[in-house]
Amino acid sequence: MTVVTRFAPSPTGHLHVGNVRTALHNWLLTKHHGGRFLLRIDDTDAERSREEYVDALKADLAWLGIEPEGEERQSARFAIYEKAFARLAEAERVYPCWETPQELELKRKVLLGRGLPPVYDRAALAIPEDERTRRIESGDKPHWRFLLDRERPIEWDDGIRGPQRFDPAQMSDPVVRRADGSWLYMLPSAIDDVAMGITDVLRGEDHVSNTAAQVQMFEALGAPVPRFAHEALLTGTEGKLSKRLGSMGVAQFRDAGIEPAALVALLGRLGTSDPVDPSLDMAALASSFDLSHFGRAPARFDEAELERVNAAVVHALPYEAVADRLPEDMDAAAWEVVRPNLARVAEAQDWWRVVTGTVVTPALADEDRAYVGEAVQVLEDTWGESPWQGLTGALKVRTGRKGKALFLPLRLALTGMDHGPDMAALLPLIGRDAALERLRAAAAWEGP
Ligand code: GLU
Repeated sequence: MTVVTRFAPSPTGHLHVGNVRTALHNWLLTKHHGGRFLLRIDDTDAERSREEYVDALKADLAWLGIEPEGEERQSARFAIYEKAFARLAEAERVYPCWETPQELELKRKVLLGRGLPPVYDRAALAIPEDERTRRIESGDKPHWRFLLDRERPIEWDDGIRGPQRFDPAQMSDPVVRRADGSWLYMLPSAIDDVAMGITDVLRGEDHVSNTAAQVQMFEALGAPVPRFAHEALLTGTEGKLSKRLGSMGVAQFRDAGIEPAALVALLGRLGTSDPVDPSLDMAALASSFDLSHFGRAPARFDEAELERVNAAVVHALPYEAVADRLPEDMDAAAWEVVRPNLARVAEAQDWWRVVTGTVVTPALADEDRAYVGEAVQVLEDTWGESPWQGLTGALKVRTGRKGKALFLPLRLALTGMDHGPDMAALLPLIGRDAALERLRAAAAWEGP
């Protein structure tokens, strides 16, 4: 049996880290088995769903390299839900209810007050058939509940959590449809999973209790129950996912200079016992993706780790992958020179400015100014194939300086900075004229 998975976001906001993890893991699970990954837009809530979020989430997935092989929209499938619902009503697996929210709240309070679980008492189930019909025909619109089968426990073998067992007697019959005819999430999702041939549902553990009810919905629909796996919740470094991080959209990571490959490398492994490896691409992550490597402890999303992974990813990016994000006249050779110093691709332009623009002339100590003056003399005579080696070699002999004393004043004068890319690679990019100009300026500058 081929694996068919789906990512089912509600387009009521931007994708955040948790959504991205779910989408990615479904994709990886699918690719590991060579199956199909589908996108389902859960837009039954017309009030809160927005087209701009649909566009944004598709763009986000594309940026991450997650390509769905099919797409469905719940808002285009109401006729399908209607039909399945009619069958369930026929089989008396859904029933109409008329309690007001206040009445339900009161029932809850009474049960809780007696120390009992607040399970719906099924009072509406006792309403005789003719009275139901009369009320419905008179325009008194009911909401509808799915009738759980309480005769036997609900069980499934969760791909991450292991054997699960729920007692349906401890569960309320879930409301599946509101009085205005609109759908709640649970039933349409099960109907779609059947129609779309979904074999594996991988989602967050906040859905575990939904799964218990949905297992019975699949059975009531006469369909096989898919395999379920629920991932531990995502947390920040200090317990809960912070509000900021929890709501951080893909676009914000992108704007912050995070590469898609870094997010993928980190999130792909998050929650598993496998180490994060920045060199792994999607295909490599997919081939090693295994639900049995997931643990039940909360998965920690560490921003500092994302930064480290991102830097490692940037250090390996080829020029072709970044050319359109670099200053126009910056070529492949220049990229190779500055790349090891970058935490983000955008920082390349800072170094390019150091190469091609003007630098801040450092205020050096007297002896260092004299030393830089000697560097000017050396460079006036020689440049050659490897100017940096030539320059420092000659200065070493002339001044007896070595190490930091030999290199740092030159670096400061040539770049205005005390750190940066390999000078041997950088100096040819700066060029003879600019180098001489900068060295002369530093030799002469006594400070403000
Ligand atoms: N739209 C639901 C959500 O975003 C889908 C849950 C599911 O995967 O079934 O929570």
